[in-house]
Amino acid sequence: MSNDNITFNNEIMYSDCPVCGGEKTLEVSNRTDNIPYFGDILETAVLCKNCGYQSSDSISLEQNDPVRFTLKIDSSKLNSRVAKSQTATVTIPDLGLKVEPGPKSQGYVSNVEGILNRFESAVVRAIKLEGDEITPDVRENALNIIDYLARIKMGELSTTLILEDPFGNSVIDDDDAEKELLTQEEADKLQTGFTTIDQSEME
Ligand SMILES: [Zn+2]
Repeated sequence: MSNDNITFNNEIMYSDCPVCGGEKTLEVSNRTDNIPYFGDILETAVLCKNCGYQSSDSISLEQNDPVRFTLKIDSSKLNSRVAKSQTATVTIPDLGLKVEPGPKSQGYVSNVEGILNRFESAVVRAIKLEGDEITPDVRENALNIIDYLARIKMGELSTTLILEDPFGNSVIDDDDAEKELLTQEEADKLQTGFTTIDQSEME
């Protein structure tokens, strides 16, 4: 047993840079880490010594049973821990809000308030994106959502928060959260954020 839960596994490889085309100028390093709630993850970082291009990504190495956590939330739940892996889907059905994983999804550990704030920012971004083109209906709906989220935080309203993860690396850490295992069929319907290539498109 080791009391050090971080294992460095540094292996640097060299590859061609996709940005400047430099030959073997891209340093690719991999590192495994153990993160509370997420378990073992693999972090990959690239850095081009020629043009300075850099990027990093992390993927979970753990695969657990597909799960769904459901929690009734109000202002008393704002501090409840939420760990969302990069493969998780977060939904607030009452408000028609859903965040599905995409290729750029990141895992994070936050709390219920942090999740509500992320939804609020996403709605604000959507309004800005629409700009002058926004229809009164869309605008009113968006403002209603922002108002609802604010009233949850002020203790006036409650709603249901759902976190689903086909790889089981996410959790709502609250005694009142209901945890269910998903059937394979339900898990298959969830987006994973991984790029999938349809075989028929390649033929
Ligand atoms: Zn480069």
